[in-house]
Formats: sequence, C-alpha cells, structure tokens
Amino acid sequence: MTTPASKQSGAKGAKTAGSSGKIRLATVWLGGCSGCHMSFLDLDEKLIDLAELVELVYSPIADVKEFPDQVDVTLVEGAVANVDHLELAEKLRAASKIVVSFGDCAVTGNVTSLRNKFPVEDLLTKVYHEGPGAVPRGGEYDKIVPALIPRVLPLHQVIPVDAFIPGCPPEADRIWAAVSALLAGEPVVLAEKMRMFG
Ligand code: SF4
Repeated sequence: MTTPASKQSGAKGAKTAGSSGKIRLATVWLGGCSGCHMSFLDLDEKLIDLAELVELVYSPIADVKEFPDQVDVTLVEGAVANVDHLELAEKLRAASKIVVSFGDCAVTGNVTSLRNKFPVEDLLTKVYHEGPGAVPRGGEYDKIVPALIPRVLPLHQVIPVDAFIPGCPPEADRIWAAVSALLAGEPVVLAEKMRMFG
C-alpha cells in the first residue's frame, strides 16, 4: 500500500534559521517503539552533514526536558495514545513551523493502535492485574501510568501535520530524502518506492 498523494507532500520546508544560524530541529517520541529513531541514527555519516545544518533542540537522544519555542522542523514518531501525548502534541504544534508524521505509527496508528479493539479498562486489567508474568499483588501500576485515551489516534487526527514519512520504520534513505528536502526549503515529495507502508 502507498501513502495517499495528499499525504506524501508537505508544506514548504524550513528555510529559516535560529540565532545559531542553524535550522532548529526537534524529534519527538510519542506512542512508538523507538524503531523510527533507531532508523534516524542509521543515517550514519549523514548525521555529520546534518549537524552542520541543524541545531537539535529537543529529542529522546538529547537530554532536554521541555519542548522549546520557535522550532523549525519537528519529526514525530509514534501515535497519540495517552494524555501526555495529547499535551505534547499540542505543545509541539504551537511551537513548530513544520510538523512531520515520522513512521507508520504516527501516520496511521499502526502497531500502537492494535489495542483499539479492546476497552481501556479491560486492557489495563489484563496487563497490570492478570499478567502475563508475575503480577505484584495489590499493584496499582495502572494508576501511575499516564491515562490512556479511549482510542489510539494517528497524529493528524489530533493536530495539523505538514508532511508524512511512512515506513515501519522508514529506512534511512527515505528519512534523508524527506529531511534534506525540508532543510532546503522544499516540499517533501517521496519517490513511489519510498511511499510504502511497513
Ligand atoms: S512505525 Fe514501526 S518502527 Fe516506528 S515506532 Fe511504529 S512500530 Fe516502531
């Protein structure tokens, strides 16, 4: 399956720069397995080229606690699954010029949305009170995880999204094609073979 044409291209890229003279880039990890970020690291030597062009202002691979203001490009891995994700999605949208759904979980819900067939309460009971594995007696772990929203949602059903990078995970060449276009101030138009899900 390919990404619909309306979803493969985005707004014009981020041809502005912060006070450092570099484009301010953020990457965010919502409801995903981190595989998309691992694939981002597979850019290997291109990461050096990227470091010349961008200032990484927020990311799970950088120790920044608060999402900053005035971000040029934000890549979002993962679907929206809980109230913390909702809050961060709204915050990053308000602070970002361009928001990119990064990977199939962000684009469609994908693996993260498999739980949508079960009511949230049943799910929490199964996971935190019945197993699998050893379940702490009297455990209240279901009370300390962020509250799950009733259905896992792809990012564009929560906030407007400017561009989409499908793939589970998107391979490094696909990520580079999209990111380099955005950094050059161009829309993301992926070749057909780079528009496949999965
Ligand atoms: S799209 Fe695939 S690799 Fe990326 S977060 Fe989802 S399951 Fe993991």
